[in-house]
Amino acid sequence: VLFRSFNTAVRNYRVGVVGASGGIGQPLSLLLKLDQRVTDLSLYDVAPVTPGVAADIGHVCTPAKTAGYVGQDQMHAALKDCDVVVIPAGVPRKPGMTRDDLFTMNASIVQGIAEACVTACPKAMFLIISNPVNSTVPIFAETLKKHGVYDKKRLFGVTSLDVVRANTFIAENQGMDVNTMAVPVIGGHAGTTILPLLSQVPGASFSDEDTKALTHRIQFGGDEVVAAKAGGGSATLSMAYAGQFFASRLMAAMSGEKDVVECAFVENDLTSAPFFATKVKLGPNGAEEVLPYGPLSAFEQEGLDSLVPDLIVQAKKGIEFANK
Ligand code: NAD
Repeated sequence: VLFRSFNTAVRNYRVGVVGASGGIGQPLSLLLKLDQRVTDLSLYDVAPVTPGVAADIGHVCTPAKTAGYVGQDQMHAALKDCDVVVIPAGVPRKPGMTRDDLFTMNASIVQGIAEACVTACPKAMFLIISNPVNSTVPIFAETLKKHGVYDKKRLFGVTSLDVVRANTFIAENQGMDVNTMAVPVIGGHAGTTILPLLSQVPGASFSDEDTKALTHRIQFGGDEVVAAKAGGGSATLSMAYAGQFFASRLMAAMSGEKDVVECAFVENDLTSAPFFATKVKLGPNGAEEVLPYGPLSAFEQEGLDSLVPDLIVQAKKGIEFANK
């Protein structure tokens, strides 16, 4: 009986996806439908196709019950009592745009979602994918704070795609098994604020030239996709994978799996930036412990020194927006 009730607890999460009908939202929702820990999948978007996306995904023969909600009127019902809310809502980049160029459109979208979460699911884990992550996470935090429901352990900027890219590119470069890779990527989620720690990859060795080239490719990997899609948007499929990966690691930790450590953009005081991506030990309450990023090479230290001021500015922009 004990075993059965343990199992019930393990696969008993209500997960909401906000922006579920988008380029990321649809494949992300499909992957979450495959996750045995998800019992309720709540798909919300402002796009009219959303009930259709839910009906479509709902036919997949896995346990999660799937429901679609569309428009502001149904937002509260969609978010009600969610344990985990994954947020890929908003506008993606077009060629030539930086993530910061999205601020004007996405800041108010993210703020509105945070406000809805205050009453519908204040204790959920919030996973922010909407860009610019370096600013949208502070906006989300400030909005929850204003309503007295902020818990820094429960708010994550999803930077897993940077880790996913680092794993892929470095395994390729080193001829290593990509299944064994877990490259730490610290800092933020935009251009040079993304700092992969190549010096911490066990068994790898890089020429100075390769270190520079790989670091640059990981930092600007998103631009490769934006350019190749030629106006059709930014990374969606790899992001859906990365988002589901992080959500599933978090749910594993929430249900008692030990030693779950993943990189994420969370509030901490490792640097003078209020939010900083680093290794985080996940547990039943979310980000249980923020781990130090460990020893850096001179090249990485230089990168860190120059990115922290950018993170501070981008967080400040979000905080000021939320308090306007
Ligand atoms: P998309 O335009 O294909 O989809 C966005 C979806 O959000 C649309 O279906 C839209 O209707 C919906 N939406 C807009 N406003 C909404 C609101 N107020 N409430 C609910 N839904 C709303 O875009 P996409 O390619 O899926 O990208 C989504 C976001 O994710 C972008 O901001 C993009 O920059 C970001 N992104 C982040 C990462 C990362 O690593 N964190 C990677 C890639 C993309």
